[in-house]
Amino acid sequence: SYRPLMGVKAYDLTGRTAFVTGAASGIGRACAVLLAGAGAIVHGADLDAPGLHETATLIKDLGGTARTHHLDVTDRVQVRQAVESCERLDVMAAVAGIMHRSPVLETRDEDLDRVLNVNFKGVLYACQEAARLMIAHDSGGSIVTMASGAVDTGGPGLLCYGAAKAAVVQLTKTLANEVGRYGIRVNAVAPGWIRTPMTDRHDADAQEHTEALMSRMSPLGRVGAPEDVAHAVLHLASDASAFTTGQILRPNGGVAMP
Ligand code: NAD
Repeated sequence: SYRPLMGVKAYDLTGRTAFVTGAASGIGRACAVLLAGAGAIVHGADLDAPGLHETATLIKDLGGTARTHHLDVTDRVQVRQAVESCERLDVMAAVAGIMHRSPVLETRDEDLDRVLNVNFKGVLYACQEAARLMIAHDSGGSIVTMASGAVDTGGPGLLCYGAAKAAVVQLTKTLANEVGRYGIRVNAVAPGWIRTPMTDRHDADAQEHTEALMSRMSPLGRVGAPEDVAHAVLHLASDASAFTTGQILRPNGGVAMP
């Protein structure tokens, strides 16, 4: 029978293992560091080897335990091997993703394929391999996917990106229904505008303009930081959210959704 850990202890991940894709940068790095800070052994995966190494160093400097997997999330075999190398798996955070903008009438097949491959299939493979291992070990677990506020709002140029993120939401709800009986929870995080390398406009004026605009849209009057999303992921990863599955959590500063 279910005996909840009370209060802050519910956020303790000591003795748990977490796998984080996209761990070399931005939100994925913040998730890897926070989950390690909560006590988990963290396996970080990314295409960017130097960035991964930096994340692992950050974790080790904080006294945590990190392993790295230099891989492409669109390669199912690489993802399987990396996930299977974990002795146990309690948490999967499928964060890796890319941005792409093109008007619908100028969108090419190769744009759509690339974005769906990384942002949808990359998340799908991570979810499938994680759920398989959790079921095999009969250990339960928590899977967190990375959607986006773009799913709610749409937006010019966001056809490929938003379609992939909408597919991630569908994956999340479907998988949650299918694996709940194994004690596995599946939830999505749909952040608003977060300051990361993905949203860097490489021009100080343009950046300031965008951030001022985004800040005005939030009742909290600021843009998001990677840590704001990582805390939402920690909540979903931990026993604090033990009765939450198939949901979308929106760390977006309260930006009004249509
Ligand atoms: P980021 O660019 O800082 O980090 C993305 C990471 O994913 C990078 O380290 C990159 O190397 C990795 N990656 C990309 N393709 C990969 C592949 N094929 N295989 C392995 N790793 C790969 O971006 P971020 O802002 O931290 O975004 C992280 C996630 O959050 C993405 O899924 C993004 O769509 C989502 N998101 C971001 C924002 C935002 O405003 N920054 C808002 C909503 C959702």
